[in-house]
Amino acid sequence: MKYLIWAAIIYLAWRWYTVSKQSSSEPASSADSARSASNSGADEVAEAMVRCAQCGIHLPHSEALHGAGAITFCSEAHRRLHGNR
Ligand SMILES: [Zn+2]
Repeated sequence: MKYLIWAAIIYLAWRWYTVSKQSSSEPASSADSARSASNSGADEVAEAMVRCAQCGIHLPHSEALHGAGAITFCSEAHRRLHGNR
């Protein structure tokens, strides 16, 4: 009976060891891919930041409204305000 208990303890310890090894190796690989994905995303955002010519707020290039030339605005209202000046 004593051996059975020891066998169960060793089996549970082995199971815990393999499970913890799996769970520690899996997030590392997914974290690597997530880090590289967030890196490329951060680069895109950093490149695409533009400044509103009216209020000076910084916003992503894709969300900005474009006025004459290279001028960008945060909203249609600010584009109109800037044009009225
Ligand atoms: Zn603005």
